[in-house]
Amino acid sequence: MTRYLPYGDMEKLLSLSKRRGFVFQSSEIYGGLSSTWDYGPLGVELKRNVKEAWWRSVVVSRDDVVGLDAAILMQRQVWEASGHLDNFSDPLVECKTCHIRLREDQLETDVCPECSGELTEPRNFNLMFKTFQGPVEETASEIFLRPETAQGIFVNFNNVLNSSRKKLPFGIAQIGKSFRNEITPGNFTFRTREFEQMEIEFFVTPGEDDQWLQSWLKERYDWYIKYGIREDNLRIRKHDDSELAHYAKETYDIEYRFPWGWGELEGIANRTDFDLTQHAQSSGTDISYFDETTKSRFVPYVIEPSGGVDRATLAFWLDAYDEEPDGESTRTVLKFHRLLAPVTVAILPLSKNEKLVPLTKTILDRLKFKFKCQYDDSQSIGRRYRRQDEIGTPFCITIDFDSLDDHKVTIRERDTMHQSRVFISDIVSVIEDKLEHNW
Ligand code: ATP
Repeated sequence: MTRYLPYGDMEKLLSLSKRRGFVFQSSEIYGGLSSTWDYGPLGVELKRNVKEAWWRSVVVSRDDVVGLDAAILMQRQVWEASGHLDNFSDPLVECKTCHIRLREDQLETDVCPECSGELTEPRNFNLMFKTFQGPVEETASEIFLRPETAQGIFVNFNNVLNSSRKKLPFGIAQIGKSFRNEITPGNFTFRTREFEQMEIEFFVTPGEDDQWLQSWLKERYDWYIKYGIREDNLRIRKHDDSELAHYAKETYDIEYRFPWGWGELEGIANRTDFDLTQHAQSSGTDISYFDETTKSRFVPYVIEPSGGVDRATLAFWLDAYDEEPDGESTRTVLKFHRLLAPVTVAILPLSKNEKLVPLTKTILDRLKFKFKCQYDDSQSIGRRYRRQDEIGTPFCITIDFDSLDDHKVTIRERDTMHQSRVFISDIVSVIEDKLEHNW
């Protein structure tokens, strides 16, 4: 069934976000910093789980991809060679009357939309954040916060190749913060100036690039579906020639149907040998690959699946949001994939009665090293179930007075609300089994 969160309902998600601790406005007590967000106790778990699911899928479960964690700060020459200093910009016009700056490519009129004033000719505005290394603020010490993690991978190509002894085709994966001084950030965490990326640079023999591009496109599309995005809300869009970046031969975007329309979650690009060649020329270092079987030396091509952690997190969250009729009222439930849910198991003693405390504590101690648990003993059990539904907890364990005698507890499942009694000694294996098979 087609289901997605309409734009008007975004307010509901934002209110839940603040109330339950998913995402907060950054610097809120000082009036907030625009388009900048902090992940709260539940948001940070959700985001960690998204990153973990990605890492498991593209690094841990493959023997042809290794990981890297490169620094955010890099030599200025990196950005000269990559083309970012010259090309990573948006055309801006300025209103001669009110001095507002606007993106030329997003303008629908040729006068200022705010005051109808005359506009200047467009000038390119570089999106990289600039800072200074060391105590002197002069051009020589000017450096940039990286606008993508990819370049940290390219400049480490020789290091990784020599230390990991990988043969083509192989990839390097990395998760990390990137910064872009976006002119028009917005739509919650969709477009921000500080964000996290999860990127793979997958190096292949030229000639095999087209097939690897298709293979990664499928792999990455399937990953979003596997972790809960409905097919109706996910699509693949090919870039036409006018859209292609200066380094790309062919690019596809995986897009999600956000409440405000389709938006990019991840780009999968064939970057050819552009980056390695540029860095070889610029640094004077040989960056190439020797193929033992063909006895030939060449610069590999690279296929780049480049996704945003914040956008993926938001899409999984939006797609999980549901409201179901529940008797006289409505049940709000986040139907997260079980491995993405911020809390996996809620531990709920039926009451605060002191007879239940020791057993509840024993169960919590046993489970908390295996699963992300949350203990809650306040208010009625029905309200506690609703609170857990609202944050997407797949399993609630209720300890009642019978548990003291029959050594069983009730496991209640979020989506079906089905309840079953299981032996306390079996809880871990029952939940592990459900996490693995029951999605
Ligand atoms: P857009 O066209 O939406 O600006 P892009 O094509 O510039 O995105 P890429 O350079 O391909 O984005 O970056 C790869 C991924 O990084 C994007 O698919 C997106 O998920 C994420 N990303 C890029 N810019 C931002 C941003 N400002 N805020 C949050 N995530 C971003």
